[in-house]
Amino acid sequence: MQERLSPPRRPIRELPDELISQIAAGEVIERPASVVRELVDNALDAGAQHVVVRLMSGGVRSIVVEDDGMGISPSELPLALRRHATSKIASLHELEQVGTMGFRGEALAAVASVSEMSLISRTQDAPHAHALDARSGELRPAARAVGTTVEVRELFFSTPARRKFLKSQATELSHAVEAVRRHALARPDVAFSVWHEGKWVAQWKATSPMERITDVLGNDFIGASRALQVQAGPMQLSGQIGHPEAARSRSDLQYLFVNGRFVRDRLVSHAIRAAYEDQLHGSRQPSYVMFLQLPADLVDVNVHPTKIEVRFRDGRAVHQAVQNAVQDALAPSRAHVAVSPVSAPVEPNEAGPLLPTQQGLDWSRPGPLHPAPTAQSAMALLESAWSPNPWLGRPSAAGIEPLQPSPKSDEPLGHAVAQIAGVYILAENAHGLVVVDMHAAHERIVYERLKAAFSEQDQLPSQPLLVPHTLAATAVEVATAEAERDTLMALGLDVAALGPATLVVRSRPAVLPQADLTELTRSVLSDLQTVGSTRVVERTRDGLLATMACHAAVRANRRLSLGEMDALLRDMEAT
Ligand code: ADP
Ligand code: MG
Repeated sequence: MQERLSPPRRPIRELPDELISQIAAGEVIERPASVVRELVDNALDAGAQHVVVRLMSGGVRSIVVEDDGMGISPSELPLALRRHATSKIASLHELEQVGTMGFRGEALAAVASVSEMSLISRTQDAPHAHALDARSGELRPAARAVGTTVEVRELFFSTPARRKFLKSQATELSHAVEAVRRHALARPDVAFSVWHEGKWVAQWKATSPMERITDVLGNDFIGASRALQVQAGPMQLSGQIGHPEAARSRSDLQYLFVNGRFVRDRLVSHAIRAAYEDQLHGSRQPSYVMFLQLPADLVDVNVHPTKIEVRFRDGRAVHQAVQNAVQDALAPSRAHVAVSPVSAPVEPNEAGPLLPTQQGLDWSRPGPLHPAPTAQSAMALLESAWSPNPWLGRPSAAGIEPLQPSPKSDEPLGHAVAQIAGVYILAENAHGLVVVDMHAAHERIVYERLKAAFSEQDQLPSQPLLVPHTLAATAVEVATAEAERDTLMALGLDVAALGPATLVVRSRPAVLPQADLTELTRSVLSDLQTVGSTRVVERTRDGLLATMACHAAVRANRRLSLGEMDALLRDMEAT
């Protein structure tokens, strides 16, 4: 047996100050861009109206940030460099109400521990500026106007391991510019400029929030997005939400600000993503700028050293508000859903069964709609779309209907010309040809109807089955059905266990008289199983409705008449 080698025992010691700062720096300062972020945060906290960032070698050789803020008095200059020294909070109570970008008193100490740093600063009442060299501690008179200049040279010179992780100058520069861009979006009232190697890189003049978004993200983004401005309880949401068709392959155009701070938040990004539902193809990423403003006591900003994450007191309310707001913002553009350029790759035929025929769906029933309180505009749109369906007015429209030849159609989606590969509708509008994914289009329409029916009485009307439908089920499906019985009922599905491996369906959603019950039940159960708990079901209700819609929508290879296709196009435009 091998003898166990224990490491030599060493005495417990307190770490030296410098090392503590270097360890802290490891968390806060990852690359030049992190320094830029911290220094600009400080400038903004000092009330600066102009912030200038000068970089050399992508910021590795030097980062200089100049501001015209309130400055630091000479007696406090050395303190500014001390760890846990801050002018921004003095108590736990103040931490909970904090409105400044900084409050940890860590950044300058951390940066100073991994670079050569100096501060030059002048306050309003000082006759001249003072410069402090962080390494030597030397304080000497200097010249500059009121404000502060922080110089950071040779970042990570003392921590070569970290330095090795740096990427090319160009990459570091782009990260640094991105850091300023985020600040620029958050603070349109402040002017920013960025220089690299003495050359001008970016400049944003003080302006209105809308102009600033345009200046930072460009006209293309503005042209392909919609404004959002909503008050939801104590929360205020504003920003620009990109059209689904302007979605990108990367998530590089997603800006979320919580109380003026750029953050990443899975809850909010999930809510935004959910608002797009099936309007985004595959892994496409939506683009957006969203500003969430809420009382400081409803959000904890002290959960991450770089403050890139926050914790909401009522995450569910935030999720709901964001999803509703984005849905509303997108609603008027939904006619664009699933419209792809003619060059879109035509997917191979899915040899699916012929599913529900339209005649079975009683969509024509005009009924009063009660708008959901937070989705008024979407509901208003739906209301106007809830007109007798031409399709159903002519239930015999199984054959080909005479086409109204109108090549210069002014309907946005034009008129159907043909069905391609059993999957797409080819239509002609005033601008040319459009291809509509028939299943996606129909799914959306069914989805909106389900949603409308649901919001009318907070459940889907159900229709008892004359002959109960039984299906084979796994043990998990049976358990889920029993645990989620109420939710299933609310969705119009009366599902019960008939044995350890059999489920019986006794009623179905009245709005989906033709959907395949086995498939519908299984997919809803699978959703519920993933969600896991009834408490969160409401949040995913729309997801459940979407699943149901998917199963009820026309499948590939179902032949549609031109009339049916046109009706689908008109419904699309309305939805
Ligand atoms: P924090 O921002 O969390 O307070 P920092 O280490 O970033 O911690 O800064 C320490 C202190 O130095 C700040 O609280 C502030 O008083 C002062 N300070 C730093 N940068 C500036 C600046 N650009 N203008 C005025 N004061 C500054
Ligand atoms: Mg700071």
